[in-house]
Amino acid sequence: MRNDWEILHIPERIRGIVELAHNLWWTWHPQARRLFRALDYQAWRESTHNPVLMLRLIPPERFAEAAQDPEFLRLYDQVLAEYQADMARPGLPLPGPVAYFCAEFGVHVSLPIYAGGLGILAGDTLKEASDLALPMVGVGLIYSQGYVTQRIREDGWPEDVHQKVLDHGAHPLEPVRGSEGPLVLPVPALEPTLRVQVFLAHIGRVPLFLLTTDIEENAPWDRAISQQLYTTDLEQRLKQEWVLGVGGMRALEALGIRPAVLHLNEGHPAFALLERLRQFMAAGLPFEQALAKTRETTVFTTHTPLPAGTDVFPFALVDRFLGPYCQAHGLPREAILELGAHPEDPQAGFNMTVFALRLSRHVNAVSQRHGEVARKIWSSVRFRGEEVRIEAVTNGVHLFTWIEPLRVQRLLDKYLGPAWRERPDDPTVWERVREIPDEELWAVHQERKEALIAELAARARKRWQEGAPAANVLALGSLLDPNVLTLGFARRFTAYKRPDLLLHDLERLKKLVTDPLRPVQIIFAGKAHPADIEGKRLIQKVFRLAKDPAFAGRIAFVEEYDQHLARFLVAGVDVWVNTPLPPLEASGTSGMKASANGVPHLSILDGWWPEGYTGANGWAFGGEEIVGDRAGPDAAALYRLLEEEIVPLYYDRGPDGIPHGFVRVMKEAIRTVSPRFCTRRMLKEYLARFYGPAAEAWAKGG
Ligand SMILES: *Cc1c(COP(=O)(O)O)cnc(C)c1O
Repeated sequence: MRNDWEILHIPERIRGIVELAHNLWWTWHPQARRLFRALDYQAWRESTHNPVLMLRLIPPERFAEAAQDPEFLRLYDQVLAEYQADMARPGLPLPGPVAYFCAEFGVHVSLPIYAGGLGILAGDTLKEASDLALPMVGVGLIYSQGYVTQRIREDGWPEDVHQKVLDHGAHPLEPVRGSEGPLVLPVPALEPTLRVQVFLAHIGRVPLFLLTTDIEENAPWDRAISQQLYTTDLEQRLKQEWVLGVGGMRALEALGIRPAVLHLNEGHPAFALLERLRQFMAAGLPFEQALAKTRETTVFTTHTPLPAGTDVFPFALVDRFLGPYCQAHGLPREAILELGAHPEDPQAGFNMTVFALRLSRHVNAVSQRHGEVARKIWSSVRFRGEEVRIEAVTNGVHLFTWIEPLRVQRLLDKYLGPAWRERPDDPTVWERVREIPDEELWAVHQERKEALIAELAARARKRWQEGAPAANVLALGSLLDPNVLTLGFARRFTAYKRPDLLLHDLERLKKLVTDPLRPVQIIFAGKAHPADIEGKRLIQKVFRLAKDPAFAGRIAFVEEYDQHLARFLVAGVDVWVNTPLPPLEASGTSGMKASANGVPHLSILDGWWPEGYTGANGWAFGGEEIVGDRAGPDAAALYRLLEEEIVPLYYDRGPDGIPHGFVRVMKEAIRTVSPRFCTRRMLKEYLARFYGPAAEAWAKGG
């Protein structure tokens, strides 16, 4: 599969390292990480943990040396054996794979094709499918410029940087081969000449097929279709979604993959259902039966409680592609356009969520509370007079990705044994968290906090060298202190997430952060969507405070929030803060990641938290859905919890210097959140409730 030059200089004895580098399996198997580090630590650092790039940087002599080094070989053999055994396990019995479609996949920073939570969930899902041996294939798009990068200007404004970040040779991607070289396919109806090339990323056992239009065969304007994630250009966005849905299904067909189930993660890939319909009709089913079968075999997960958060395209625009497509394949154009019309505002345009709701037998929201909200929002949408049933499957996180591997995972290995890796969703396994000695958990956590602060200092130093103004460098976290209670707030900056709720009363905040005996510091991180001016203003607001000497350098705003930084933050701060405006946080997952690392959640009762909060595993406030100004009462509740409960608990040290009361909350967070809010529990639920019945419906009559 790979170019010969890439592997010829690697000795036969250790050539398996090439396959390991090209399978993101290594990202959640710590011993595989250790192997790459041991191979060449400098290249590992220089490539920012990208083994594919690393293999190019390492001189041939180093490979020759490694192939002679008994210690390296022992580790190599062990990792390779484990990898091969994992790949060879029999899969769960399903009549065909689940094809999981999503506009973004956040698997690892070396594959920058994600923006945030939706993509991270998709990446975690594929990893879990691999762990569970659930037959699944992923389908997504490559964005050659990735998602936006933001640099904070001197005045605090985040400046968008769009740059080419994806160079196919330096990422864990390989071109898929067809019978005559690289697989390049025409996408029907989208300008007769548009072609997509299909690439493949390996997520353990799960293949992730990624499409790009940025290839020489296409005109410049068509190449641009797969340059940017979540472009605001409506026509470009529609084309992306057409390429993802229709092109994605065509790619699977060309590869001989016949999915039993389609799972649409959010509405963007919903055109896949059109192509599914066409395929069933091509196999001989009349329209109504093909429609019923498409429906019976589709799972649709909706993520936004904001009706405005769904894509609605003008009918005329959709018809430009859908019209010729329907004509070419004998599909009833008007009936299909109508499936995308919202009953409450049929003229508004083709609504991707409404279309997906009508064509999916299995629909779910991502937390119980979101389920209630979604049922309300979409109650008027019907299919053939029948109500659309929206259930809830609460999100989870992939623990082996998100629990910090060097210290925290090892601590769990020591006290929980191998059981937590084998049955992460079994609450009884986690009971033994209580047996971890306080001083050990505290020491591990303190070390993660120091690692986070050192990482932020290194980043600040780099920006200083690049010429950033001194005050900016301080605001990036140079003055953080590992002995101070540290709050973390990292997420997309947008109005409903209210990153400024903590700033509501500046005098009260100043008292908290500058308290001479029991100070608090806050680390903020996040990007705003390029078109979200309000979100950018919020970044500016936070950054100005971070630069204000009155706050003593105890407020930091960190650039470049991505999966890499997220892993440092969720393990390294002391308390994870979440303050969205209820009921707008569908689930939220960063608090789950933090809790599993022993970083308790301080959150408004929205999203997953009403299910997760036990009274002893973190802190909760508010949550009611009240119209009018909520910021005052919510901020007051937040300050009160900090002042009266969290700060005293954190600084209440025993003679051994350890805050035993606080450590009790940390343990409760790990013990109660990990088994319930992990992807193992989540994916098993999808399997039992949706994939199983849908696959059965697919197998019936082929
Ligand atoms: C987990 C994660 C998110 C989602 O977090 P929310 O709590 O849902 O806002 C976003 N971005 C990154 C990089 C993440 O790791």
